[in-house]
Amino acid sequence: MPSSDDFIRPREWVSDFITELGKVVRKWGEDRYIPIRQKVDEDWREHELVVPMMKEILVDLGVNATFFPAEVGGTDMPEPATLAAVISEELARIDSGFATACICSIWGMVPIMMEPHRNMELLMEFGPKFCGEELYVGCMAMTEPASGADIENTGRMKGKTIQTTAAQIGDQWLINGHKIWPSNSGHVGDLFTVVCTTQRGSSDPNDFAMILVPADAKGVSVGNPYQKAGMAADLNSDVWFDNVKVPLNYRLHGPGDDLKYFHRATSIANVCSAAMAVGVMKSVYEIIKKWTTERVVAGKPLKEHSLVADMLSEVAMLIESTSAWMWTYAREMDHPEIYGWEPWDERYVLKTRGLALHASNAVERACSRAMDYMGSYGYSREFDIEKHWRDQKMIGLWMGGKGLKTLENARYWFDLETL
Ligand SMILES: Cc1cc2nc3c(=O)[nH]c(=O)nc-3n(C[C@H](O)[C@H](O)[C@H](O)COP(=O)(O)OP(=O)(O)OC[C@H]3O[C@@H](n4cnc5c(N)ncnc54)[C@H](O)[C@@H]3O)c2cc1C
Repeated sequence: MPSSDDFIRPREWVSDFITELGKVVRKWGEDRYIPIRQKVDEDWREHELVVPMMKEILVDLGVNATFFPAEVGGTDMPEPATLAAVISEELARIDSGFATACICSIWGMVPIMMEPHRNMELLMEFGPKFCGEELYVGCMAMTEPASGADIENTGRMKGKTIQTTAAQIGDQWLINGHKIWPSNSGHVGDLFTVVCTTQRGSSDPNDFAMILVPADAKGVSVGNPYQKAGMAADLNSDVWFDNVKVPLNYRLHGPGDDLKYFHRATSIANVCSAAMAVGVMKSVYEIIKKWTTERVVAGKPLKEHSLVADMLSEVAMLIESTSAWMWTYAREMDHPEIYGWEPWDERYVLKTRGLALHASNAVERACSRAMDYMGSYGYSREFDIEKHWRDQKMIGLWMGGKGLKTLENARYWFDLETL
C-alpha cells in the first residue's frame, strides 16, 4: 500500500547523504518534537520549548554545518538547494513554523555562503558561531512597515522604497531603520542580515545593500513577539536600528553584487517554501488517510464514498504535482551547468515565484478539503490538521505574498512590460 514516501522524490537527484539526513530529521521530529507540538502554540512569546529544539536540530544534529565551508567548521555538502528542500520538507511535516525558524536562521547567510560567491572574511568571523557548540540564530530582515512586497519586487521597484539606510562614515556603516516581521527576530535572533539602501529613494542596483548587524550592537532594539494565527514556533517582531555602527566589511559583497546574491537567496526561499508546503501536505495525507479509513459513515468507511474519494484524489495530485515541480527547480538551481541558469539570475526568481505560488495554493486547498471531511474533529487541536490549516496560510504570504508571486510568474512567462 502506498505511503507518503511514495510521492515523487527523484532518487537520482537526491543523494544518499541528503536522503539519510532527511530520515534522521524525521526520526528526531517523531521522538522529540511531536510530543510537544501542541504546546508550541502557547510558547509563542517565550519560546522556552522552541529554542532548545532549534539547538537540537541546527547544532546537535549538525544541520547548520552542512551549509558552511570546512574552513569554518562546516561539512560543506554539495547541492545546497536540494539539501535545504529536504530539511524544509521534513521539518514542515512536523511543524511548518518550526521549519521556518530553522531554515530562516541560515537564510541570511546564503548570499555569502554559496559557491562561487563565498565571502570568506565574513564566513571566518561568523561561520564558527553557527557551526559551534552553542545555538547562534540568524535573521533575514527585509520587510518594513510600508510594503514588504515592494522591497521584494526588485524588478520593478528596484529598491527605491527601502527606508532603512546605511551611510558610510569613516571605516563604519551607520545604519538607521525599522524592520517588521523577520523570522527569528525578537529575543531569539543573534545576527541580522539587514536589507537596506545607501541612498534612500534610489533605484540604482549599486545602492541596494545587505549588511550584517549583530543583535547586541549598540542601537539595535527589538519589540515583543507578535501573536499570530499560526506558526507560533517562528518568532516575529519589530526591529529598530538607531545609529547602529558596524565595520565596513560587514556589507556582504558590495555595489551590484548584494542585489545579485539577494536574488539567489530569494529563489532558494521560494524552493524551500514549496518544500514546506509538500511537508505539510504529506502530514495531511497521513492524517486523512487514517481518518477516512477508520471513520464509518452510512455503513462504510468514509473513503469508500465517491465524494470523499474525489477529495482524496485531489490531495494526492496536489502533493505529486508540487513535489515534481519543487524537486525539478531544486535540481536546476544546483546544476546550472546542465540547465544554463546562473542561480542568482533575476529571471530565475520570477520563475520560482510560480512554484511558490502553486505550492501555497496546493497546501491551502489540501488542508481545507481534508478538514471538510473530518467533520467537527478537523477543528479539534487533538487531530493536528487544524494546526497545519492555520500555519500553512503564511507560506503564501511571505516573500511578497500571492499578488507579487502571480505578477512575477506572469512577468517571466509572458514578458509583461508594465506590471
Ligand atoms: C510567518 C512569517 C514569516 C516572515 N518572515 C520574514 C522574514 O524572515 N524576513 C522578512 O523580512 N519578512 C518576513 N515576513 C514578512 C513577509 O515577507 C511580508 O509580510 C510579505 O513580504 C508581504 O509584505 P506586507 O505584509 O508588507 O504586504 P504588502 O507589501 O502590503 O502587500 C499586500 C498584498 O498586496 C500584494 N501585492 C504586492 N504588490 C502587488 C502588486 N503590484 N499588485 C497587486 N498586488 C500586490 C502582495 O502580494 C500582498 O498580498 C514574514 C511574514 C510572516 C507572516
